[in-house]
Amino acid sequence: MKTTELAQAIKKGELTAQANAEEKIKAVEKNKHLNAFIDVYAEEALEKAKEIDARVKKGEETGMLAGLIVALKSNICIKGKRATCASKILENYVAPYNATVVEKIIAEDGIIIGSTNMDEFACGSAGTYSAFGPARNPHNPELVPGGSSSGSAVAVATGMADLALGSDTGGSIRCPASFCGVVGFKPTYGAVSRYGLIDMGMSLDQIGPFARDVEGAMLLLTTIAGKDARDQQTSATPSQLAFEAKKIKGMKIGLAKEFFEGTDKQIALKIGEAIQKLKEAGAELVEVSIPSARYAVPIYFLTMFAEFSSAMQKYDGLRYGLPTDVTMPLAKAVSEERAQGLGREIKRRIMVGTFITMKEYSEAWYAKTLKARTKLKKEFETALEKCDAIVTPTMPCLPWKIGEKMSNPVEMYMADMLTASANIAGIPAGTAKCAEINGLPVGMQVHAKKNDENNAFTVLQAVQERTGK
Ligand code: GLN
Repeated sequence: MKTTELAQAIKKGELTAQANAEEKIKAVEKNKHLNAFIDVYAEEALEKAKEIDARVKKGEETGMLAGLIVALKSNICIKGKRATCASKILENYVAPYNATVVEKIIAEDGIIIGSTNMDEFACGSAGTYSAFGPARNPHNPELVPGGSSSGSAVAVATGMADLALGSDTGGSIRCPASFCGVVGFKPTYGAVSRYGLIDMGMSLDQIGPFARDVEGAMLLLTTIAGKDARDQQTSATPSQLAFEAKKIKGMKIGLAKEFFEGTDKQIALKIGEAIQKLKEAGAELVEVSIPSARYAVPIYFLTMFAEFSSAMQKYDGLRYGLPTDVTMPLAKAVSEERAQGLGREIKRRIMVGTFITMKEYSEAWYAKTLKARTKLKKEFETALEKCDAIVTPTMPCLPWKIGEKMSNPVEMYMADMLTASANIAGIPAGTAKCAEINGLPVGMQVHAKKNDENNAFTVLQAVQERTGK
């Protein structure tokens, strides 16, 4: 049953929210070994489900998400719950307010089931940098589920949740969605409020949906999108208030060779087959070129390091963090605090970010990066003038073994080579499963113009229907 059909069935009283919640809670128990959740709110979810059923029975109007079970990445603030970011430094941090997306989900009667595991502070592509232990891939628990929104993807893939939210700064929704075989979507920068999202790279971060089908992703995005006075970057266009897929026939689909060069041959082949199916469905294929996409990894990482090192300053044990030993001199106390509370990858990023933004070096590194970012953004805009959507593989490789790529950060960074461009350009991009290789899902990525998510959803829905996935 499609997510939207499930929502309708609950709304009409054909199915109860309680039964749905019980089924999801059972799946949470059964899949504990995948380590998808940091905290589960089973009892509260059941209570809320019963309340919704009672309202349906009385014939009261219920919200768009009534009775659907939603999991949230643990960098999204839920009032009165821990928001750990999977870091030791925030192990005991309880959010004092709701993120805007949380308010919107609650207002539409979505049922929040728990906070999901992730790479510490959203830094990673594997889910292995969590201070709460690695999350695992449901298709093979020896393999990574992708990251950094690992648990959210796993939860949806295994039926522990109907929907989930993640954050995507350089690919953190699309990577795990692709590795777990679900739909994941990064909206246009500014389409969804970041108020209450613990930031990583503020010019790149976006909250976005996971779902088992494109319809579910559109439903959740419709719920959370829109202008918010608490996030000045938000804007709302009419198309962003109700997302819907249109007809694929006659759509122009752009293909850029740069996105296939570093991709595993088997994956490129599968994507090629799926592209043919889009053509059979009536889409027109056009060649486009985005040469700077080859530099997406350095552009993304240098931008993010700079913003991340600044975002991390507040974890000093005084404002946020573990309790500080007040008997120590301040500099020593802060340094101890961070030494103990933060993981290796986080420290690496803070150091590089601090370095490239230092007065002496910022012209050579940070300023240059910003120039390259503008160039890549322009190339994307030009390419998207020639077509309605650009289709690429989502990931250049299949999920790797847990523990691999951890000793070589650059190898891990390269996993973002196909996803980071969308964040750099601020445009929407989503992924849907289009094939399998040795029992592992392969995701196809679709980019569209700024505020044109409907075009991306149209292609994703065609992928879903035509590849039967
Ligand atoms: N994998 C990327 C990184 O390590 C992306 C992270 C993200 O999107 N949050 O930075």
